Order: sequence, then structure tokens, then C-alpha cells
Amino acid sequence: MEILLVYPPFCTPASPPYSLANLSAFLEANSTIETSLLDLNLEFHKLKFSKYQQYFQNFKKNYSQEEYENVSKEYHQLTKKIYSENNLKVVKNKDPELLTKLTAQIIKQIKNKEDLVAFSIVYSSQAFYSLALIKELKKHNIKTVVGGPAVNDKIKQAADECFDNEVELLEYLTKKKTSHDKLICNQALDFNIFQLKDYFLAKPVIPIKTTSTCFYRRCTFCTHHQNKKYHEFPLEQIKQTIITSKQKQFFFIDDMISKKRLLKLAEMLKPLNVSWMCQLRPTKDLDEKTLKTLAESGLKIVIWGVESGNDRILKLMQKGTNTKDVAKVLTDSKKVNIKNVLYVMFGFPTETKEEFLDTINFLTENKNNIDLISTSTFGLQKDTPIYNEPKQFNITKITETKRTVLEAKISYQTSSGLTQKEIKQLKKSHKHILEKINKFPKEMNFFREHLLNLC
Ligand code: SF4
Repeated sequence: MEILLVYPPFCTPASPPYSLANLSAFLEANSTIETSLLDLNLEFHKLKFSKYQQYFQNFKKNYSQEEYENVSKEYHQLTKKIYSENNLKVVKNKDPELLTKLTAQIIKQIKNKEDLVAFSIVYSSQAFYSLALIKELKKHNIKTVVGGPAVNDKIKQAADECFDNEVELLEYLTKKKTSHDKLICNQALDFNIFQLKDYFLAKPVIPIKTTSTCFYRRCTFCTHHQNKKYHEFPLEQIKQTIITSKQKQFFFIDDMISKKRLLKLAEMLKPLNVSWMCQLRPTKDLDEKTLKTLAESGLKIVIWGVESGNDRILKLMQKGTNTKDVAKVLTDSKKVNIKNVLYVMFGFPTETKEEFLDTINFLTENKNNIDLISTSTFGLQKDTPIYNEPKQFNITKITETKRTVLEAKISYQTSSGLTQKEIKQLKKSHKHILEKINKFPKEMNFFREHLLNLC
């Protein structure tokens, strides 16, 4: 039996999917099952947006910020429209665009009737098209299995099997229980199994995870860690993945990495002469000396989880940071030539207008140390500390509205702080101030790998 691993549309076709590379390496190391891969998200974008693929693959030559801003704005608006039109088709039980063509690509890669197609569904934006593909494959009597953080009940019902992790999938495929201590889990990943030259960027940027999950896990709004057990992947495995890829640019996609671990990574990376970027919490242990060591090992960009410029809100978020330390980290980072990209979240429950403006002032005061701002509005997620203890955040009512394909939509009411409408208005009226701070085109927030291409 063989297994075809599929990455479905829609998400940004910026880099090869880490989940497929990881699953393929794991199955090949622990079984005799042959795997093949298909990044259907990339295939959809190649067929539909080839003009933009060409532009993004060449944007570095004679780079013009204005041109980039215009082209990527156009691309973003167009993709948003196409994605939502197609999602709506799935909701209405109609075929999304290119379904026959993409299904044919799957069928072409399947050799035997008993072969399986496994979908890795990482983002909820992939849920709609996945559902359409699964239903279509069923008509051809092809068995499908699903896994990934964005798998929901609708998808589980449509697919033949659903797995929480790669070990469950392995046991299903081999039809025997595995002894966990005998599993090979430190295999290097091979990204050359993808058509790296086809992604929408000037030079490939390889996504690598260095740990199983975030070790901090205390932020009250977050579910990213999914209560998984924290463990660090061996440095030698990461090194071999880098060497095997034959590439020079890497995005460590962990939600955050500890200082101790960062320094070990830097020691391993320095002789490899590569460029890298990562996401971190701006804590005071990341001092100038540490950041200098990281910069010397090739760290070019950090995406910092700053979230707010108000200390009461940071405390309520349990971010483990404060504005004074955050400002110092950004200053030190800038001093050693690291580009600072900031995640900022407005509208945390109980946030007042004054506290909203504190964030705007914080960003303005630190503008010389900021290269790009990525803003979002707070959204209540299931199973977060806020969802479980709403009273502590002055949340008086939580409403869940059923949706056709996605999980229920969660809305809430608070007894204090800004209303959703006020947050929207304040964001709109301060948009121009934030945009002026950006040194990179704002649109690069949709293609963060492009930042590394430019550094
Ligand atoms: S927001 Fe980031 S640092 Fe905080 S718990 Fe989530 S993943 Fe960890």
C-alpha cells in the first residue's frame, strides 16, 4: 500500500508545507510504506495566479517598494475574493473552481486501488476545499484520511478516518501497535521532494520546527500549544535538514523559542552561513549580548509577540512582559541589525480607549525600532483560559453560532471596555499612523518570507 500526502487549498503559497515533509519523513523512517506528496495549494495558485507567481519570483530584481505594495495589494484582494467565492460554493454543495483538475492530479499519482490519500489540514481556510476534494474522491472509491489542527467535525464525517498524530496514522497503515520507544523520530526532513522553484517567492525559504510546541503556554488568549507535551527536536536533526535542503534561508516556525535554546541553535547555525527568522516573546532575558550572538549566526528578522502597549492589558494577557522591557528588547535588537516585526492585538476584553491609545503611543514612541506592524483584533477561542474563566475578563455572555463547514462562531459580550464597533472605528482612525511606522510594505504581512528574501 502507498500513501499520497496532500496539502489542500487555500493558504499562502510561500513555502513548502512543513507538515507534509515531516509526515513523509516519519512514515518512511518507521515503515516500508511508500509516500508521495502533492501540494495542491501550490497547484491551485499556479493555475489561477501565474502572473503574480512570476512577479513574486522576480520582485527582488530592481525592487521597488511602491510596485511591490501595489502588486501584492492587488493579489491579496483578488485571492480574498476567489477564496471566499469558492468557499461559498462548497457551503452550497457546488464544486469549487478547478476541482476536476486537482482531483485528476490526485488520481494520476495513485498507483493502486487500495492506496490512501491523506490530507494535512493546518488552517481553517483549507477546510472548505478539503471537504470538496474528499467528497469528490469518494465518488471515485478512493479512501481518504485526515489530520491536522484545522480538522473539524464536518471533515471527520466526510473522510474515512481521522488521526490525531502521526503515530496513530502509522499504526493504522501497518495494522499493528507500535512501541513508542522504538520509533525513529529524529530523521532529517527533505524539502527537495517539493518543487521549490515554484513557490511564490524570490528564493526558497524553508520552514523548520525546532520544538513540539510553545513551552510558555500561559497567554490567556492562546490555544496554539494545544496542550501538547513540550520537547526539543535534536539539533543534529535540524542541522541535517538544513544541509539536505541545500538552501540558505530558513524560517523557524515555532510559536516561540527559549533563550537557552536560541543560543544552542545559533552555535549550530553560525558555521552553516545561512539567514534565518523566527517568532519570539520580547522578554528581558533577550539582552543586547544575546541578540548580537543570534544576529552573528544569521538571524535577520524577529516577529515579536508584543500585543499591547499597556501594562494592565499585558498582565491580563499573562504575556510575561511589560512595556519597559519590550521597548529595551526592540532597541537592542535594532542595534544589532535585526529587523523587528510586531504582532499587535487590539480589543482585548476590558481594554479601554485610553489603553488602546497607549498601544498607539507605544508604537509611535518606538517607531525607529520597528520595521513592520501586524495588527489583529482579539477573537475568543475555545479552550483558552479566557473562554474557561470568562468572569475574570468581564465577559458576561458567550454565544456560539453554528456554521456549515467551520466550527461554531464564537461571539461574546463584556461588562466593561471597548465594544467591537468602537474597536473597529479606533483601528480605522489610527490606521494611517501605524502605516507610517512601517519600513517594509504592509502587504508583506501576508508573505513574511519575502522579508527574508530582502534581507
Ligand atoms: S501566544 Fe505565543 S508565547 Fe503565548 S502561549 Fe501562545 S504560543 Fe506561547
